[in-house]
Amino acid sequence: MNLGQHSLAVFSLLTILACGADGEAPLARFKFAQPHMGTIFRIVVYARNVRAASRASSAAFNRIAALDNTMSDYQSSSELMALCRRAGGPPVPVSEDLFRVLEKSQELAGRTHGAFDITCGPVVRLWRRARRRSELPDPQELAEARKLVGYTNVRLDNKRRTVQLLKSGMLLDLGGIAKGYAADQALAVLKKQGIASALVAAGGDIAVGAPPPGEEGWRIGIEPLESPAKPPNRFLMLRDQGVSTSGDSEQYVEIGGKRYSHIIDPRTGMALTGRSSVTIIADDATTSDATATAISVLGPDEGLAFAKSAHHIILFFVAATERGDRSYEWGSLPFAVSESSEGAATK
Ligand code: AMP
Ligand code: MG
Repeated sequence: MNLGQHSLAVFSLLTILACGADGEAPLARFKFAQPHMGTIFRIVVYARNVRAASRASSAAFNRIAALDNTMSDYQSSSELMALCRRAGGPPVPVSEDLFRVLEKSQELAGRTHGAFDITCGPVVRLWRRARRRSELPDPQELAEARKLVGYTNVRLDNKRRTVQLLKSGMLLDLGGIAKGYAADQALAVLKKQGIASALVAAGGDIAVGAPPPGEEGWRIGIEPLESPAKPPNRFLMLRDQGVSTSGDSEQYVEIGGKRYSHIIDPRTGMALTGRSSVTIIADDATTSDATATAISVLGPDEGLAFAKSAHHIILFFVAATERGDRSYEWGSLPFAVSESSEGAATK
């Protein structure tokens, strides 16, 4: 899981009151924030009173914390790390959450021919160290690490809900998908607690439910490539969807004048170079999170082709070129037209 402090700007500190049905308290806006998964999770809800809002958001944060304990590759006590320690051995039964995320990851790995690949852990570790030391990974070590990468070395058994990692030393990294899944799950908890109008933002990965009262949707800013130097200049209006931005605006290292991203190409073992920002809108944040990471690796041409072939994917890809920024779009981007004080920014 990545450690970046993805930025998220909430544009209003005001509590907006909306009229409730006869006799009921009006809905009011409440905001909560907690650190999890190496980022800040923010929850915005509309509720009748602070008690209802706090109770629901605490339950949602508890769910996020539990998912962090399941999927973290930073905590040796996580279920994911326990699974990795048994790599090279027989199939291991896993929790429903872990299985679902692995299934979704493997499906995307297949469809992107390994551009998205959660077995990239050994290579990601070397690049994390490279970022800390500001020096490129040792080629020999990189070559060794690459031998352990390959999504076809993960065997899932749907019926038994087991996972088998075929090579000893394999290391899974769910940093490209787990925050989106946690945002979706937190939104589901809020809904169960009777709160339909809610937003859960996990850094650059955001899940939104029903819109704020009287609004068309949640107003989400797309941060420009120059972020965080420049504030968002494009805004989306979203409801019942997930939106994610992947890019290198915060997590990168510059070595020898070249900028290396925290996203790596599992097919080559190299960190992505060059500046890009990929925003994906999908039916849920698990999909938008993983797809944004995948399309960052695929690049504009293949990425656009992939978005066209996928269901319900809206793409906004900005890449820096020698002749300035170029943008690529697929699908009907729901840009916000009216001024509103609601919202958050994806990356
Ligand atoms: P995101 O910020 O959602 O784009 O995810 C980036 C994180 O996902 C990185 O910090 C790594 O932990 C992991 N990752 C990097 N490259 C890949 C890749 N090609 N496929 C899957 N996960 C990746
Ligand atoms: Mg992602």
